[in-house]
Amino acid sequence: MEKGTAIRIFPWMTKENRERNIRALTGLVGQEKATEIRDMPSVRMLVPAHFIRLIGRLRADGDEAGAVALLKTVIPSIEEGRADVPIPHGIDGMGSGYHLQEFALPDHEQPWTIRRLYPDRVILIVSLSCAGICRYCFRKSESGHTRHIHLAPALDYIRAWNTSREPKIRDVILSGGDPLSLSDTKLDEILTEVWSISGVECVRLDTKYPVTRPKRITKRLLDILDGRVNIVTVHATHPAEISEEMSDACRRMARRGIVLRSHTPLLRGINDNRETLKRLFWDLFSKCGVTPLYAIQFVETPGAAHFRIPLSESFELMRGMQNELSGPAVPNFIIYLPDGGGKYDIGPFEDIDRIGIRKVEGGYEIPSPLFPGKHGFYPD
Ligand code: SF4
Repeated sequence: MEKGTAIRIFPWMTKENRERNIRALTGLVGQEKATEIRDMPSVRMLVPAHFIRLIGRLRADGDEAGAVALLKTVIPSIEEGRADVPIPHGIDGMGSGYHLQEFALPDHEQPWTIRRLYPDRVILIVSLSCAGICRYCFRKSESGHTRHIHLAPALDYIRAWNTSREPKIRDVILSGGDPLSLSDTKLDEILTEVWSISGVECVRLDTKYPVTRPKRITKRLLDILDGRVNIVTVHATHPAEISEEMSDACRRMARRGIVLRSHTPLLRGINDNRETLKRLFWDLFSKCGVTPLYAIQFVETPGAAHFRIPLSESFELMRGMQNELSGPAVPNFIIYLPDGGGKYDIGPFEDIDRIGIRKVEGGYEIPSPLFPGKHGFYPD
């Protein structure tokens, strides 16, 4: 395996290619773990080359805990095959499947590439590929495919909505997979199309590339994003992900006027520690110029139950963090309610009773931001 190459293991690979990648994996995780993965015939795994270098650096610096945390994000665990959880959130982990009727247009099927919970904004799935496959990802079953996405139906849907309905879709979030896995040309075309739709006032882009493959943030890419992407939301889970290359990539985006925010899922075994989270939020803010936006309660994902932190523990992790970190470095804590009940934004908080959350037998009742007067039950 040449230096600087990602490790890929997919069921459709040739035997030779798979064995070559298993050998590279052995160098990264040891014989026992690599053998365990060799014995998972249906596993889909992708470790970015940048992560391999980063893990090498962390180990050279004696930071084995950081190296292990990074490995856990991308190396399949035996628990993936065993552990499972029901999926109360609908087709996409956020519950937009529950809103298909509400946002239906008579002559347009709502394309699967559109995810919509709110009237004025849509998520547009523009790619199914990522630089790595995160083991906790609620879109993991989709990620890793290189299938071309036909976006015309989604763009037609937004256009049709904005010419016939109110409120208009004014905020389009490019997501995936990872939008930056697309070629510059394709991304350029998509941005041109989206901005040609009357009523669109903001384009956001969700990505993990600054973390997983920061060299993707080239001058050409910045020229394409400049003035056409208002906000880039970076996905980050652990302070060991924050490299000089990431910091440089983020700062170059900021110099083009792009507002940088972050999302962090709370994950057992990766960041279920207050000090780890504080270090992550502070480093995002101070080293990368990224304002932490959301810490997110684990979204139920098949084969990822071992990453789940009970909600009561998440409350404790986030409680009063604003007293220990500068205000702008503290993200809001959010929970996606089951049955498409929306994103409940708790904010930096002290007391759950004060914000209307009730502790009940087996979990919590949380007021739905989308269905006034209703509460969603969230199991602990
Ligand atoms: S980069 Fe994002 S979409 Fe891709 S696998 Fe990771 S969490 Fe999922």
